[in-house]
Formats: sequence, C-alpha cells, structure tokens
Amino acid sequence: MEWGIINKENFKGKTSYDVPIKRWDPLSTVTIHTEGFGLRKKARYYGHYSYISPIRSERPKGFKTNEEEKQFRDCSKKIMRRYKDVFSSVTEGKIIHDDWGVPLSDGFTMIVTQDEIRRDNPFSAEPHQIERIPDVCKAITLINRYPSMARIIDPEINESIVKNLPSHLKLSRGINLVTISRNFYPSLCFNLIPEDVLAGIFLSMRAAILYCIEESINKDYYDIPVMPFFNIGTKVGGSQPRIHSQVYIDLTMDGHGSRLEGYLEAFKEMGDKCHLCKTTHGGSDRLILETEFWTFYNTGSPVRNYHIRFHPNEHIRRFSQLKVNQIEDLAMSLKMIFQALDDIEIDKNRNILFNCCPYGYDADFHMFADIIPHEVIGGAEMADDMRVARKLPHIAAKEIRESLKKYLQ
Ligand SMILES: [Zn+2]
Repeated sequence: MEWGIINKENFKGKTSYDVPIKRWDPLSTVTIHTEGFGLRKKARYYGHYSYISPIRSERPKGFKTNEEEKQFRDCSKKIMRRYKDVFSSVTEGKIIHDDWGVPLSDGFTMIVTQDEIRRDNPFSAEPHQIERIPDVCKAITLINRYPSMARIIDPEINESIVKNLPSHLKLSRGINLVTISRNFYPSLCFNLIPEDVLAGIFLSMRAAILYCIEESINKDYYDIPVMPFFNIGTKVGGSQPRIHSQVYIDLTMDGHGSRLEGYLEAFKEMGDKCHLCKTTHGGSDRLILETEFWTFYNTGSPVRNYHIRFHPNEHIRRFSQLKVNQIEDLAMSLKMIFQALDDIEIDKNRNILFNCCPYGYDADFHMFADIIPHEVIGGAEMADDMRVARKLPHIAAKEIRESLKKYLQ
C-alpha cells in the first residue's frame, strides 16, 4: 500500500484494519455546528483523532546509528558532499548504494512538482522509473511513499472496508507530500541551506498544494484541511537527514482537530479586528524580527521554551496564497533565526508548523506558523492543551534578538 494506493493486488489477504485508519476519540469529539467551517451540510466533527497507518512502519530509517546522526550536528561541508540518502536515487536518476553496497531505492518515484512545474498527477496510480533531476532544479515535491492516508482506493475494496469497519473508524483519505532539496543539505544545519534552495522548497510546496487541491476538487472532494510542516531532526519526527518538508492534505471530509477549531473560533470571534493585524506582541518586548513581509515574536503562551510564532504582515489565509517576495523574505529570515537559535544553543531538533484555513471553509483566518524547539514534556502537559514553560517569553525574545543582531548588519 505504498504511495497510498490500495488495490486488489496489495489488499489480498488483508483485513479492513490493515489500511490507513482515522479514528476520532469519542471522549473528545463533538459535532461542528459553526456555519462557515465547511461548505456543505454534512456531519462533521472536531476533537482529537488519530491516523493509524500500517504503511508508516515500513518507511526506511535515514540514520543507521546514533553515531551517524551525531555527525550531522557537525555541519561540515565534507559530510554534506559525500552523503547518500534514500532521496539520492530519486534526484540522480540511478540507483545509489550505501557504503555497504545496499541499494537505497528500488528505482521508482512519483513527482508532483519539480520546482513549480507540474509533473505527475496527484491521483496517479503509477509510480514510475526515476530520472535524473537537472542540477538547476532547487526542489521537488514527491508523493510520500509511506503515508498515513490512502490516496487511491479500488472502489470495490472501499465498499467492503466501509462495510466492515465499525462506524467510529474510517479509512483515512488524503495526500501526503514530501518536498526535498535537489542537492543534499542536512536538515539540522539550516545555515548550510542556500536561501534560494529554501525558497525553492516553499515554492515547490506551494505549487504542489495548488495542484493537489485543484485535482481534489475535480474529484468532488471539498472541505480540505492542509497542514504544511517541517520535522527537523529525529527527535521531532524527521526520519531523513536531508532537508525536507511535508504537507498533509486530509480528504476524509469529516472535520478537523480541536486545535484548529480553537484557531478558527478565535478568528471568528475577532471579526474585523484580527489580532495578528493589530497586536504589537506585548508592547514589542516579545518581538524578535520584523521585516517588510513577516513578523516573528515569542508567543506569550509558549508550547515549549523559546517557542517562536510568525506570520505574514499581510492578512492571508493560506500557505498557498504566499507570494514570491514573501517566500524569499521568509527563507532569508528563517535561516537567520535558526542560526541565532543555534548560537544560543537551543536544541537543533525543531518543528515548523504552518497553520492555515482549510479549503472550502468560509472562515476569516490570518495564516501563522510556529517554530517549536524540541523539549521533553511531562504528564500534566499531556492531560490538557497546556504547557508549563520556565522561560519568560520576553526574556527568551531578548536572548534571540541579541543573538540575531550580528546577522542584521
Ligand atoms: Zn490579520
């Protein structure tokens, strides 16, 4: 079921539980009543849900040993040049072997966008032979081979799965994308990633999202939550050493999680007075960086110490609405901020999460994103949507601002 394809061949001998499943927690799930959060009248929910995907466990590990992973903290160019990863075959167009002679790929791929150029249809059922990606290309967006959602499913099998699964379990439908840099740059060394490559990753993601949404709408999907994110480092879910981002496009059409519900309701309550358009972020003592296009600040209610939030200065709802000059500025700013965080020894394992308004929702929303450095969290924090942080956000902001100064000359 790799590539999110379920057909008669790969379903043979399997049960309805051996497919990617989406399960809503009955103790924290309620019906959405808010008009606007969804186009059509249909039972939809918000709350806590889990994707349970047997396909995920098949994915290859990017680091074989802890030692190998440690090398990546040392951001030397030597390591970067000689490194071979699972994506090397996809970019070089030939099967690359690791140092032990083991092939790193079976020679197949699915490319949704090469830079911004559309390639394979997001609903294609045909992985194809790898081919060399030209050096001038900055980034490519692939169909994730080990997704948590099913992208294509044989109608007969779908029918039998729907019949056999209890009503609180659903086959999870959707598209999982992964965007990689054409050339190898280690994810944990943001300072080594050229600005234009990072911008290239964003541009390729944007083009791929638009392609997927267009094709999804053609297939009569609607109300589509889209989650773009980066997992940087193994501690925060980044299983591959190469810089890569992902996008989860949920096509199950049954609602969204409770955190997104909170954001949607908060913006609804704000009405015309968008908080992000008006606020000075704590009288500016939590501000880290303001550019022509973006504002970065330490959030007053951090999810982790040094939790940074940022948003485009323009009131736009989605990642896919970002313009080229906003994207270029973001690449430059993010690189600087990551370097400033490295300099004050904040954990290099970090997530970047983009919070966007789902497609089809008639909701006001100001897109924003979070940079969350890794930290071990405790029990109280698992029990509620709450965090205990030790660092005062304005002190964290001061430290980052001071560390950033040298790059702003
Ligand atoms: Zn706004």
